[in-house]
Amino acid sequence: MKNILNSTFGLKSFKPGQKEIIQSVIRGKDVFVVMPTGSGKSLCYQLPALVREGLTVVISPLIALMMSQVLYLKKLGINCGALTSSSSPGEVSEILDNLSQKALKILYIAPERLSKASTIKILKAGNINLIAVDEAHCVSQWGHDFRPNYLLIGNLRKTLNVPLVALTATAGPRTKIEITKLLFGNNKPKSFFFGYDRPNIFMSFQLKSSPRDQILNFVKKNKQTSGIVYCATRAKTEIIANALNEVGYSALAYHAGLESSVRRNVEALFSSKDNLIIVATIAFGMGLDKPNIRWIVHADLPQSIENYYQEIGRAGRDGKPAIALTLYSQEDIDFRRQQINEGTMIEVQKDLNHQRLNHIIGLSDDIDCRRKNLLGYFGEDIVSCKNCDLCKNPKDTFEASKSIQKILECIILTNEKYSIANIINLLTGQLTDKIKKNKFFGTGKEFNNLQWLAIIRQMMGKDLIRPSLKGGNSITLTVQGKMFLTNKYPINFNLDSFNKISKKLKIKTLISDDDQALLSMLKANCRKLAENSNIPSHFIFREATLIEMAIKKPKNIDEFFMIRGVGPKKLEKFSASFLNIINVLPPDALHPARRKLIGGPSAYIYDQLIEAQSKLAYGKDGYQKKITCSPSIIAKISKLINPTQTIINNILGEKKALRFGKEFLKILKDF
Ligand code: ADP
Ligand code: MG
Ligand code: ZN
Repeated sequence: MKNILNSTFGLKSFKPGQKEIIQSVIRGKDVFVVMPTGSGKSLCYQLPALVREGLTVVISPLIALMMSQVLYLKKLGINCGALTSSSSPGEVSEILDNLSQKALKILYIAPERLSKASTIKILKAGNINLIAVDEAHCVSQWGHDFRPNYLLIGNLRKTLNVPLVALTATAGPRTKIEITKLLFGNNKPKSFFFGYDRPNIFMSFQLKSSPRDQILNFVKKNKQTSGIVYCATRAKTEIIANALNEVGYSALAYHAGLESSVRRNVEALFSSKDNLIIVATIAFGMGLDKPNIRWIVHADLPQSIENYYQEIGRAGRDGKPAIALTLYSQEDIDFRRQQINEGTMIEVQKDLNHQRLNHIIGLSDDIDCRRKNLLGYFGEDIVSCKNCDLCKNPKDTFEASKSIQKILECIILTNEKYSIANIINLLTGQLTDKIKKNKFFGTGKEFNNLQWLAIIRQMMGKDLIRPSLKGGNSITLTVQGKMFLTNKYPINFNLDSFNKISKKLKIKTLISDDDQALLSMLKANCRKLAENSNIPSHFIFREATLIEMAIKKPKNIDEFFMIRGVGPKKLEKFSASFLNIINVLPPDALHPARRKLIGGPSAYIYDQLIEAQSKLAYGKDGYQKKITCSPSIIAKISKLINPTQTIINNILGEKKALRFGKEFLKILKDF
């Protein structure tokens, strides 16, 4: 072992854990490894592959990762290859040749390949002696990187009947159970679980106040070093990269919307240069192997504590000090919630993702020690770390159990049907059209709306409440929430997050829960349009505009134009897609006169006439008295077989003929 480590891999000694793991794998045991990023998991199957007879098959989720490993191994003189969706026929036949000569030692396979019968045939024919599953958490449906094809690995192991080694950096207790069940079946693997602690990374969180300055100030303190800024949206990566470049740093954006050649280029530059900043979505960094990344900034709240851990784990792999800063806000939380709600997952998964979001919220509003909280989540216990912002500067706290109790009871009394906004309105005694007075009405005047919101957020951070799966914006008690009500123990909350909550923030009391559903759809549409053209979604429409749209529900272009924030350009570009969302009317909402025409040629004419009518309702110049025609008149005209101006004008009558006559004739003639 030591010989191969020195001579083939050119490494002096094993990293902690490697020796024991490698011994077990060489001996042909089933092995399950959970070790933090950067601890050298690859060697744990690469070295055994050389010692053991036959071929080792490695399943790995990312082509880029596989390719860089293959390149690295080939440089070391190891006979290896990769089968991916982008392998050319030439490459495939080279691998097959190598296989039949039994010369190949390591073969990387993309999980997608496992669903092909031909791949299984190839694998059966080769003398495979070991399966290695990298990033094994991808098999877990509860995980954040689920790859359905990873589920095929369990059968592959049974078919080939060879030992399997599974490796991952991120596995909470539940994911560990899943991995064991799905990959090892009834075999009990020898498990190596190593500590999650990365003591050299300083952990810190800040509420967003002026995010741009917060990021620039941070980068200024850490200049001339490599770092990554993670953002929640593609558009934002470009904006922040530009901002950094403007003040003289070299920064590059990276996200899934870029050409793959551009992405490869960014990856290569980042690996080779030492003062480059990458501004990326989470697509950047899986398996990234740069030891001297000095800092990670999260420009937005990550979606879960697992994501957070994996992303900050990319810094300071050389063991020298590194810093992680995370910015967060109530809007971030709302955005993440919405992402979950609009996803295509089944309900339990959504609920689980809300739970994981709750845990990262809890970490950001934490009062004790961030590392203790983080490691506690992964099942490790420490006292405190002395290397996080809370250990350095303890936060002021307040005892919140009375307020928590009030909110929980209020949620129960309103049958878990109220949104957060309406719970707060109830407590502070503000009537909306929805709120019926009950015994809680006006009983929470000790705090203002924003303060209540901060308490509710921290309650989510303790996972006492979650968004309800029943839809709308209602919230529901978790098991812990119910337990709190029976046991009532003291809970300290962060006073800072309570006092300094963003002044800009307004609770959306303006909008009823019914309109809220429409608003969500409008927002989703906005984001889709924004992603497509790589601009931030508020460049399309600001939230205030979307809210007005959801309330007023414009039926046509004219009404759409009346919404504040809609100018002529945006009207042209975006009105159709938003109007379609607002006006997806079920057929029975159509006027009877129009419904009779469904399916016939007149239906099309009718709609054109209606459209022309609404354009001309206020005259050509838009300033005259409003005139409209009844649906039955429009229907009558739409059915004319030999239309002339006289016939149309007769049907319309004098005033209407003057306004619409010509235009209507044109439509009929055009048809
Ligand atoms: P992981 O998969 O656990 O994130 P990798 O296998 O990618 O980690 O290894 C991270 C880095 O550590 C790589 O650059 C690798 O070459 C290096 N490495 C692995 N084992 C050793 C060792 N025994 N001594 C020195 N460097 C090592
Ligand atoms: Mg790895
Ligand atoms: Zn600490």
